[in-house]
Amino acid sequence: MYYIFHKKRGQTYIQFSGIIPHRVKYLLLSLQKITSMYSSAISSFIKKNDYPGFSPKAILFDMDGVLFDSMEGHVVAWIKAMHEYGLPFTREDVYMCEGQTGATTINKSFIETHGREATEEEKQEIYKLKSHYFDEYGKPAPMPFAPDLLKEIKKQGLQAIVVTGSGQPSLLKSIENSFPGIFEHDKMVTAFDVKYGKPHPEPYLMAVKKSGVKPWEVIAIDNAPLGVKSASSANLFTIGLNTGPLEPEVLLEYGANVVLDSMEDLAKQWGHFTKT
Ligand code: MG
Repeated sequence: MYYIFHKKRGQTYIQFSGIIPHRVKYLLLSLQKITSMYSSAISSFIKKNDYPGFSPKAILFDMDGVLFDSMEGHVVAWIKAMHEYGLPFTREDVYMCEGQTGATTINKSFIETHGREATEEEKQEIYKLKSHYFDEYGKPAPMPFAPDLLKEIKKQGLQAIVVTGSGQPSLLKSIENSFPGIFEHDKMVTAFDVKYGKPHPEPYLMAVKKSGVKPWEVIAIDNAPLGVKSASSANLFTIGLNTGPLEPEVLLEYGANVVLDSMEDLAKQWGHFTKT
């Protein structure tokens, strides 16, 4: 059983998964019940993976749609760049492809539209154009409440590591400016480090290795279905942060242990995941 939390008019509601949509029930819960729901999600995770426990020491953060409020820029940039090359691409495509490397996204689109793979040159040209439009769109702001959560994580003595499918140089550079002293640069995993990329578990497994902790000492936070799949396939406790237009059920289907709908919610609920 998985759970999705919603905030409405200052109250916390829980939506049970595995129930057909028109029968989904929203229930107002007491703090005690919420605590036991999180405990239950954690217990199921431990049991499923046959882990000795759950004791977070490293927190792995996806970048776009988690650390930065950057998805609208990616939507505009991808659609413009793909259309210039005669490749149909929609807003939903951007969200459903998010997390995998740009080269993979371009290649898949070529296969669907032209029935052949993109050449290395085409991949590079289109990604360069996409990066140009992304920069032209304007600098994205840090996700509201991300700085608060990161400060809390540092205060708790936990490692914070970025795991992104992005190869967007402007954004990777701005991590240090936007979150000074939080992330260790040599532990970061980006499009430049991986062979397969999300949804393959490789990026998250690489981050676990770099962090030097065990898989049961990690929390992964990702907003994209493919990112959530990557983290859950690496057998990590995965929080789906549904900051985009997708239905929260999508993140559960891709393997999230818990889905929350904003960084604000995560920052407020954080203690439930690290009090072990
Ligand atoms: Mg993302």
